[in-house]
Amino acid sequence: MGKWDDERQELLEAILAVDSLGLVSGASGNLSMRLEQKDSYGSILITPSQIPYSTIQISDLMVVNLHGDILEGQLTLSTETPMHLALYKHSSHIKAVVHTHSIYASALAVSGVELPPIVDELVVSVGGGVRVSEYAMPGSNELAENVCNSLEDRKAVLIRNHGLIGVGRSLSEAVNVCQLVERACQIYAIANSLGNVNVLSDDIVEMERRLFLGNLQ
Ligand SMILES: [Zn+2]
Repeated sequence: MGKWDDERQELLEAILAVDSLGLVSGASGNLSMRLEQKDSYGSILITPSQIPYSTIQISDLMVVNLHGDILEGQLTLSTETPMHLALYKHSSHIKAVVHTHSIYASALAVSGVELPPIVDELVVSVGGGVRVSEYAMPGSNELAENVCNSLEDRKAVLIRNHGLIGVGRSLSEAVNVCQLVERACQIYAIANSLGNVNVLSDDIVEMERRLFLGNLQ
């Protein structure tokens, strides 16, 4: 038995969930969870690079400290590890990060179109509309910084010309955020093609944001 066996099992289940939900394909995207938060040397468990989700094993998962040093694992780290580390350093409330290249979220990210608050659950669960970050090269520290800047108090960011990032207090919450945002992006794209999008009123958004902020307590 290894020290993080339960967490490895939990991350593997989240990987299988995003794969079966169609949020990732092949080896695209990456997932991580916070392991320890004792001090600035806290650590995370993260998926490796280039291993298809359908064949990934518990032993393939990597343990990395917040400085990016590998503590456990023989494989190559996910190229988006700097983005994951930056998010955990950005907020101590973030316990899990899920990054996908799902189709509709990526389409809005390519269009540079922010997802407005169009369905109630988006405001209650994600905090409101979802912003598009400034462009930066995949894997760069600049991309990590841009994503953190666009997150503010939301639980998701559309990464310009790239994909989606969702965060949560647990892996299951981060997976749910990605699923919800992808669905809302799909609804938005279809509503747009029908020629009319009714965004929720400011009053409703404000009321629902109170619920969102209450849920964070
Ligand atoms: Zn990516």
